[in-house]
Amino acid sequence: MINMIQDKLIKWYKENKRDLPFRNTDDPYKIWISEIMLQQTTVAAVIPYYERFINRFPTISSLSKADLEEVYKLWEGLGYYRRAKHIHETSKILMEKYDGIFPNEYEDILSLKGIGPYTASAISSFAFHKSYSAIDGNALRVLSRVFEIKENIALNKTVKMITELSNKLIVDHDSSSYNQGLMDLANMICKVKNPQCTNCPLSDDCLSYKHHSEKLLPISIKKVNHKELSLITGIITYEDQYLLIKNDDGLLENMYGLVQYEVESPYSFISKFEEDYHERLEAVSFIKDYRHVFTHRTWKMHVYHFVSSKPLDHMYTKEELLTLPIPTAHKKIITSII
Ligand code: SF4
Repeated sequence: MINMIQDKLIKWYKENKRDLPFRNTDDPYKIWISEIMLQQTTVAAVIPYYERFINRFPTISSLSKADLEEVYKLWEGLGYYRRAKHIHETSKILMEKYDGIFPNEYEDILSLKGIGPYTASAISSFAFHKSYSAIDGNALRVLSRVFEIKENIALNKTVKMITELSNKLIVDHDSSSYNQGLMDLANMICKVKNPQCTNCPLSDDCLSYKHHSEKLLPISIKKVNHKELSLITGIITYEDQYLLIKNDDGLLENMYGLVQYEVESPYSFISKFEEDYHERLEAVSFIKDYRHVFTHRTWKMHVYHFVSSKPLDHMYTKEELLTLPIPTAHKKIITSII
């Protein structure tokens, strides 16, 4: 499989790519400006700003001579204004240190202000056709689904592992089309919710699609501060029945609630549930994140749907469960989902 998905992705990209103004160039300066604008900002919002900016400052030299206020003015409405300051400062450094020629070494690009590993890889690949994988949230989503990676993508070690895997895929391949293909596939087909697997060029090789885990992945659980608990919360069903457990003690004593554990992923939820209730559940899909603030703590609940293969004690129909005393934290989940 490792030799196939990149070919399929590149072929699909060439046939389906979005026509974006910053794709019709391999000028590193223009690619740099577009990539900085695209940080935290949608493609649709960036296009008119990019065109106006490049029209006014077509080269590093013209930008370096500009008044900072004019750069800000052209950035007005795009947000994250520190980016405008960084590119203006960097254009001066590019003139002084690199004679106005954008550097083509990855480490030099990475050393520039406002440029992190993703942007340095994107510029190296799009402008200089070097073998660097540009791994952002979109690429992490697609690759973790294709290879069914069940690790938390919010952790650096997972990003590193996926980047290394991706770097192997692009050896001797067109890295620019591969990276941009991942972006377009994430945007057009392998969407956050409801990936369009039946239209996907990678569906024959995608392990998540094969194992029906595409709506569970990627796992993205961000670390939270000590007062905030990160929980996996389960809507556990058997046919039309839902599991609700009465709390014996603690914060919500005598109230009925969904089963939830402070664990890393829905897979560890399944193991913990099996330990406690001697029943192995099957994970069906990620539903939504919810937050509930109590006086002294916050629950960040990552809600997943699990099914049981047989009826369990404490299962209720929809009508029955709405008559039970349920704390607000779970009531809002139950009323919006069930
Ligand atoms: S088959 Fe589905 S989950 Fe897999 S990459 Fe394609 S859209 Fe994403």
